[in-house]
Amino acid sequence: MQSEKMKLTFLGTRGSVPVAGKEYETYGGATSCIRVLADKEEIYLDAGSGIVRAIPEEDTNLTILLSHLHLDHVQGLSFFPALTQADRPIIIYAEPRSGLSAQETIDRLFAPPIWPIMISDYSADVTFLPLPETLSLGEVQVSAMGSCHPGGSTIYRLTYGGASFVYATDFEHVEAKVKELIAFSEGADLLIYDGQYAEAEYERQKGYGHSTASVGARIASAAHVKKLVITHHDPGHDDSWFARMEKEYPQIAFAKDREEIIL
Ligand SMILES: [Zn+2]
Ligand SMILES: [Zn+2]
Repeated sequence: MQSEKMKLTFLGTRGSVPVAGKEYETYGGATSCIRVLADKEEIYLDAGSGIVRAIPEEDTNLTILLSHLHLDHVQGLSFFPALTQADRPIIIYAEPRSGLSAQETIDRLFAPPIWPIMISDYSADVTFLPLPETLSLGEVQVSAMGSCHPGGSTIYRLTYGGASFVYATDFEHVEAKVKELIAFSEGADLLIYDGQYAEAEYERQKGYGHSTASVGARIASAAHVKKLVITHHDPGHDDSWFARMEKEYPQIAFAKDREEIIL
């Protein structure tokens, strides 16, 4: 039966590098990956270490939308469980970066001597494609805008069944891009936003390509977004840090490990 809802699962909430331990249990230690189920479409936003925990459905169309090719967004790809399914089609969309296509970059990363086999050696049927001007995955409409991030990154908006959300990670809030993101996010049901740094940390890390929860709140409010969820958690922030932040900013939600959102 066709479902008219999108189901999002945060499989990876951490930025920069995975962390593990009891002190990260609630807000997660795996790097960027969100699974989106919408009817027959099974879409993964980024392939950080969180994608390793995916359990792909049997009869869905599998797509991975990569924001960019930094390690924390692709390092789980070689352990994506669907790669071992014989002839399972998997389409990976990503913009070329630094003069290389996504496939050329991935084939540099997953290749001897860094990794024993290449993505093309797995049983699945993997196709890399650059992001087209307009993209529909079944009934899911995908639109994109360029982020402000070292080397570039892509912000996505997915719309299905009358609901939409924006995935804006690896974004630094230079004013021109903030305006563009407000327009891009207008009226969305959900904004998933890069809030890696606290305010004081941001002052020391300007130019690293990340933002803060309070700027996310400003953008969500200006764009009339219904719900804001912060992601790309700094590896230096443990669960007790987030508990303090949620007290300080009760109107802001910080993504929790394996959190599910239905839109
Ligand atoms: Zn990142
Ligand atoms: Zn990045």
